Parts: sequence; structure tokens; C-alpha cells
Amino acid sequence: MTDDFERSRELYDRALSVLPGGVNSTVRAVTEPYPQFAAHGESGHIIDADGNRYIDWVMALGPLLYGHDLPEPVTAAIQSHASEGPIYGLPTEVEVDHAEFVCRHVPSVEMIRFVNSGTEATVSAVRLARGYTGRNKVVIMQGGYHGAQESTLVEGSAGDRRPSSAGVPEEFATHTLPVPFNDTEAVTEVFAEHGEEIACVLVEPVLANTGIVTPIEEYHETLRDLCDDSGALLVFDEVITGFRVGGLACAQGKFGVTPDVTTFGKLIGGGFPVGAIGGRVEIMETFTPTGDVFQSGTFSGHPVTMAAGLESLTFAAENDVYEHVHELGDRLRRGLTEIVADQAPEYTVAGTDGMFKLLFGRDAPANFDNHCEAGCAQRDSCPRYGTCPKTGTDVARGETDRWRRVFWGEMRDQGVLLSQNQFESQFVTYAHTAEDVDETLEAYKEAL
Ligand SMILES: *Cc1c(COP(=O)(O)O)cnc(C)c1O
Repeated sequence: MTDDFERSRELYDRALSVLPGGVNSTVRAVTEPYPQFAAHGESGHIIDADGNRYIDWVMALGPLLYGHDLPEPVTAAIQSHASEGPIYGLPTEVEVDHAEFVCRHVPSVEMIRFVNSGTEATVSAVRLARGYTGRNKVVIMQGGYHGAQESTLVEGSAGDRRPSSAGVPEEFATHTLPVPFNDTEAVTEVFAEHGEEIACVLVEPVLANTGIVTPIEEYHETLRDLCDDSGALLVFDEVITGFRVGGLACAQGKFGVTPDVTTFGKLIGGGFPVGAIGGRVEIMETFTPTGDVFQSGTFSGHPVTMAAGLESLTFAAENDVYEHVHELGDRLRRGLTEIVADQAPEYTVAGTDGMFKLLFGRDAPANFDNHCEAGCAQRDSCPRYGTCPKTGTDVARGETDRWRRVFWGEMRDQGVLLSQNQFESQFVTYAHTAEDVDETLEAYKEAL
């Protein structure tokens, strides 16, 4: 391992003159004193601009199911669509193929509209829910993330809320009701007070942008019931969980809860810019041109993206992709659980399927008997149940500075690249190996 970052430093120096903060997405600048620039990838590894090689668990923060080597049919489809002329302004066959694939595999989706980013998907889903219900208010989770959009860049509580970003008018916050994830009482109260005005609940089935927090038993069922009783729509933001948690049936399949509308992104485009909104026919046809909720996009359903997304999900349907990913994820989370029991009992191993994160908490459980073995499953019989994070706020109360400023660098020095801070998920892919996992566990042992 060289720890020479000369080239990254030079590139960041140039970048700071022409890109705000030197980056095109905020989280990339979190690494201090400057981010490493990526040069290329190779299976489960990434090589930076200075030639340093790492086991990569960042994996582009979500869109890569195969690591950095795409399966041959995916590469072939991308190349053929790119060389045929990239885009037309007319519909193409591959959009229909991809839509049929998603509708076949995701139970709640009868129709889908493809867009170009997760942000665009959630913007359109909120507009769709408002148009369909004729109501304005949106319930979101504190610490949930739905991209860079006005209606969800809101913080505080349902009774005291404000924009979380400059540039968002106060008026947006009046329509947005933040509640703590996993708190059935809080959301029930909000529905008791505002039920008639609520267009939708917008929720990540697993909080995946603020640590990783899985739902407690019956949480999503409670949301489902509240929406049914009040006529609001339940919108699952599966931009990050879609085609990862629960495999092709997505997190909704794994948890057995049927949302009215689902937003997708990341994996549904096979590594290219993408988003999508799916749901029942009567709701989806509220979009223009069939309905009156305007929705449009020059690049939407881009043939190269559609081909990449369809071929990579088809490959997953026909091979042992999810088995491999989930098995390795379990191996990693199990190993971490053992290390934590030994070395850092106040930390929680979080994640499920192909996602993992070690949450730096402050409270240790009394013992480890019958502890969740392969990542916190919010089992109320687990000795950690009283202390493991249940909300985004719980995660944020942990040792987040230790995670970012001390621990992250110690892992990097051992050749393991983790995502930029305590809050971003990390991803296991088909390209990772048992050896990658075991080396990573050794590094955790050293760093903790
Ligand atoms: C990544 C993400 C988004 C935003 O998607 P972009 O493509 O970055 O705009 C929205 N919701 C969730 C749950 C995400 O993880």
C-alpha cells in the first residue's frame, strides 16, 4: 500500500477552481483533507488516481450490483445501443422490455415511468400523490433521504418544521410533516391531526442514507393501515433498496408490505443515470399524457440506460447473483458482530442482504446472548434492542466524528475503502469475494 495521494491532491486543487467544493455531489467532498480521485475499477476493487488499490465497499453509493466488471451481456447491450445512435426523441423497444421486466418482478408495480435520477423520481412521485389525492401534505421520516428536492429538504418535527437547506421557501415546509422512523405513535398522532390533508407518506423501507436502520416489526404495516384509513398513498422510496434488499422483489417483497407507489433509481439503470416511478394503473395514469399531472424528460427512458438496467437485472434473474451477495453480506455482518462483541460492544452492526454499516453508538448491551447474528434485525428479544438505533436521530447521536475522522482513515490505510461518513450505506456486490470479506474483517479488527 502506498499512501501517496499526490495526483488526487493536484486534481482537487484544479477542481476547487471550477467546481463548487471541487465536486459534483456534496458527499464526495466529505473526505478530508481532500477526496481521492478514482481512476478505474476492477471487480470488487477500486484504483485511485495515484495507483493505490482498495477493496471497494463504496460501490458508487448504490448503482453497482456487479462491482466494477459488468457481465458480458450487459457490456454488449450497452455498446450496441450506444453505437446505434444514443437517443431519438421517439420511444424505443428496450423501454418497453425494461418496463415489462419490472412489472413482472415487483408485485406492486403495474406501470412504470422512467426518469433520470432518484431525485427526479421522488419529485414526480410527490407531485403524482398530490395530483391523485388532491391533497398537499407529505409525511417524511427524520433522517430519511429522497434526493435534492424542495418538498423533502425539511427538518424538525411535525409541530415545528423548517427547510433544511437555504433556498427552500418556508412555504414548502408547511406542507411537509417529518416524523421519527419506527415510531408508530408519532405517525399515528400526525394522521389523527392531519389525516384528511395528507397526500402521501414517503418512506425508505430501510433508512439507508442515515446509517442503516431497519424497520421494527409492524412499522410499515402501521403506515399501510394509516394510509388506507385516511386515503393517503404509501410511497416506498426504493431508490437504494430496489433490486438490492429482497432481490428482484425489492424491499417491499422482503417485508411483505405493498405500497401504492414506488420510486426506483440506482440499480434499475445498471450503473447509468436513472430513476423511475411505479404503481397501480389507476394511479400511474394520472401522469400526462393520460392524466393531468405533468411529467416529462428529454433523456427519460434513455436506450443505453434501459439496456444496461434490463440486462443487468435479467442476468441477476438467471444467475446466483443475489445468493452470492446475500451470503457474503451475512459473512461480513457475522464477522463484524463477533469483532464488536469482543472489541466495541457499544457499536451496532447494521444492514441486511447486500448492505452493511457499523454504527458507532455509545451504549453497550448488558450481554450478547441471543444477539442478532448477521446485522441488527430489530428483534425485541435481542439484548441490544433497547440501545440499537431506531431513528436517524439515534444514528446521529453516535460517535460520528470518530467514524469519519479517525476510523475511516485507519481502514483506508489498510486498503479498505468505506463510504465517506457514518451515514452512507456500504454495498456488497457479485464481484466481491470471501477473501475480500476476510481481509476487510482483519482491517476492522485492527482499526477498532
Ligand atoms: C440516492 C437516493 C435518492 C436520490 O437519488 P439520486 O439519483 O442521487 O438523485 C433518493 N432516495 C433514496 C432513498 C436514495 O438512496
